[in-house]
Amino acid sequence: MIEIPTTAAGPKLLDEMTTREVAAALERTDVAILTTGAIEQHGAHLPLGTDWYIGVETTRRVLQELARRGHQAVGYVFPLGKSEGFLNFAGTLTLRNATFIAVMKEIVRCWHHQGFRRFALLSSNGGNGTAMLIAGEELHRELDCPVVFIDPLPYQISYRQEILKNPAIDHHGAEGETSKILVTHPHLVQLEHATFVAPVGEARPFAFGPGVRVFAGRWEDFAPGGVVGDPRLAAAATGEEAYRRNARWIADILERVYFASAKVG
Ligand SMILES: [Zn+2]
Repeated sequence: MIEIPTTAAGPKLLDEMTTREVAAALERTDVAILTTGAIEQHGAHLPLGTDWYIGVETTRRVLQELARRGHQAVGYVFPLGKSEGFLNFAGTLTLRNATFIAVMKEIVRCWHHQGFRRFALLSSNGGNGTAMLIAGEELHRELDCPVVFIDPLPYQISYRQEILKNPAIDHHGAEGETSKILVTHPHLVQLEHATFVAPVGEARPFAFGPGVRVFAGRWEDFAPGGVVGDPRLAAAATGEEAYRRNARWIADILERVYFASAKVG
């Protein structure tokens, strides 16, 4: 395991490092990870920053897992993302597609200016993926550098029957996400306000599975209270296991793309 700047919470993210520490990192790596979160409603029991906090913890664990394998990268988590569907819930903040794509590109351009040459865009909010794909493709063309986009969501769905108590319905603000926040921010989880909500049939945007997306209706109509699933089943041990699996899966991808073999052009 290599030595990387670390706090009690884990490896330092870019905003926690000094400029000297980033300069030192640049002598050993040109890989930078940009994670994007969201500030959006997650029901009456989870903070608006849920996806951001999950992104922070996931990114730390990816850096840790890479370091354990002898690799170094720099990571930063941008708090905001695409949350338009939740705009009617007080406190939700969203960027529009054009703004969000522009912000991601500006951040990566700064890194490129300073010498980073290989990039990862990591999603920590289901709504961010489409814009991140576009940003990734355009950055690759503009900078002539490799960019990999990673969304852990489909991977998470593939193992949820192994770790969740109710894998059949676990969507927004439910058992999975609540379990993760219990790991890092238990003081912000108000389990006394957690209620089970089954989605209301027809307006459900994902009812047809992957490949079909229905843009119709309002989120608050198909999921009153903003949650889909049962957050009362949450446990820190479940969150811990999900973080462990996701960090390993993401580190596996980064290792294959950037650290194991010849550079990808
Ligand atoms: Zn979320």
